[in-house]
Order: sequence, then structure tokens, then C-alpha cells
Amino acid sequence: MYAMVLKTLGTPLEWTELSDREPGPGEIRVKIGACGVCRTDLHVVDGELPQPQVPIIPGHEIVGRVDAIGPGVKNLQMGERVGIPWLGHTCGVCPYCKMHRENLCDRPLFTGYTRDGGFATASVVDARFAFPLGDAVGKGGSDESLAPLLCAGLIGWRALTIAGDGRHLGLYGFGAAAHILVQVAKWQGRSVFAFTRPGDHASQVFARSLGATWAGGSDEMPPEPLDAAIIFATVGELVPLALKAVRKGGRVVCAGIHMSDIPSFPYSLLWEERQLLSVANLTRQDGLDFLGLVPQIGIVTKTNRYPLQQANQALADLRAGRFEGAAVLVP
Ligand SMILES: [Zn+2]
Ligand SMILES: [Zn+2]
Repeated sequence: MYAMVLKTLGTPLEWTELSDREPGPGEIRVKIGACGVCRTDLHVVDGELPQPQVPIIPGHEIVGRVDAIGPGVKNLQMGERVGIPWLGHTCGVCPYCKMHRENLCDRPLFTGYTRDGGFATASVVDARFAFPLGDAVGKGGSDESLAPLLCAGLIGWRALTIAGDGRHLGLYGFGAAAHILVQVAKWQGRSVFAFTRPGDHASQVFARSLGATWAGGSDEMPPEPLDAAIIFATVGELVPLALKAVRKGGRVVCAGIHMSDIPSFPYSLLWEERQLLSVANLTRQDGLDFLGLVPQIGIVTKTNRYPLQQANQALADLRAGRFEGAAVLVP
């Protein structure tokens, strides 16, 4: 197998030939058809997450087919199409696992961060964390079009659930996650207000084309107060701005795994029962709920395809905001 491997934090990934790995008990090997590129991959490469591990193969939006099955795996068949998300393993016995909050597991493994991920031709994964995708999930349903659903879609879905059911929803940062979530929120009958970098008119046009009621710069106030806002951008300055934009009792959800420091702000922005929360990881139930709805919603992802060997270019383009929607690597 071949992979783009992060050998030293902060350096480009290296194209590397590796010996084929055999799945152990409870594992499967997946022949990868596509793997999305997520902002978290940038945090992994930059060493911004705690306890980074190298060498590591990044990538946690994997779509592929079961290529080998380890002992004890009963629920998956050879050749079946599966999706592999960020949450790659949980312990099953810690207090969080016991209370059905496995997204907060004390001893988790994360795909592409603490276990090898999908910037590769193949990956060995814990079979319990592989979602069967069928052959026609979603509109189009190609491996490439489905890959962004595995993190941008799933984390977006969890954030949306936590944001509550308010009708006026703000999305700060209009990248891969927001471009999926605006379609979900619209399908649910909500109005979406999209906030981009000030002056980023192309992203604002893109947001309106996907159904956003309003799109403007993050320094602007929406035309009406928001019931909830989700922050996908990694910019701490957005927190007080979003709190200012939500109504009394409104919620602000931080959906990123990493954010720059939040500047101090007057208590009056939080007062009147506004809530500030974060979203961490996902549960398998989130995946089943969201992927089950995808065909009904008819989500269309906008993907930018890169050959696997151009993973560094994809990461650079993501960092610079050079494309709309999501980048996807194809072996
Ligand atoms: Zn646990
Ligand atoms: Zn991600």
C-alpha cells in the first residue's frame, strides 16, 4: 500500500510505500476510494492538537470497500462500501462510554490522528466504527461525493442537533461543513444566515446559491436576531460576535476542535440566558442518524478532487481558502 505520511510535525506529508497490513480481531481492511480533507488535518499536521503522534497517516473522511475481514467481524461483507469517520475506537467501559457519550471517551482513538487514517490506498480500521454506506446513498453517491459527509457532515449534524431547533440559524465560516449544513437546515425548514470572512463575496454568493437566506461578513449583524449560531471557523474573535447576534436565550455552538483564544467580552453578551457550548467528536448514533437522512435530504456536496499524491497541495489550498466546498483525495 501507499500513503501520504506525516513523519515530522509541521513538515509536508511524504509519499511512502508500506507493507500491506492485515486486519486483526474486530478489524477490517478498507480499499480506499476517496478521503476528504478536513481542517482538523491541518491541525494534525501543524501539531496543534494535544499529544500528537508521528509518524501518522492523516485523513478521517474515508469512503472505501471492505478488502479483508479480521476474526470476529460479523456485520460486514467483502466488497461492501463503508465510511470511516474521525471516531476510530472507544473503550466501552469508561464513565462516558457507559452514559452513551462515547464522543467523550477517556481512551479513544481518532482516525488520522492517533491511528492511521485515509490519505492512503488502504486502511485497517475497527469494524465497529465503519458505517455501511450502500451503493446509492445520497444524490450521485460516488465515493468522492460522500467523503465530506464523514466529518464535515457528521460534526455539522451533531452541532446542529446541539444548537436546538430554532428557526434562525447562523453559520460562521462557510467551508465544507457549512456548505452541507445549510442544505440540512433548509430541508428542516430553517432560515440560514451565513457569515464569511469580511469581503469574501465569492463565499457569500456560494452560500446564497445553496439556500442561505442572507450572507455577509462576520463583522456584520444579521438582519434579524438569531436563535442559534454555529462557529466552524477557528477564530476565537467570532465568539463574542456570535453572542451579540443571538437573541435572549439563544445558543452559540463552537464546532471546531481547535480555536484561537477567545478575547474577553462584556458579561452583557452572555447575560439573558444565552448559552455558549462546544461540540466534541461524534457518536456512532450521530452517524447512523445523519447518514440515514442523507438520501431524503438529497445533499449535494461540492468537491475539489486531488490525486492522493497531491495531498500537500490540497492542504495548502484549504489553508488559503482557495476552493469552495470540500477537498477530496482520490488514490
Ligand atoms: Zn470510553
Ligand atoms: Zn474533520
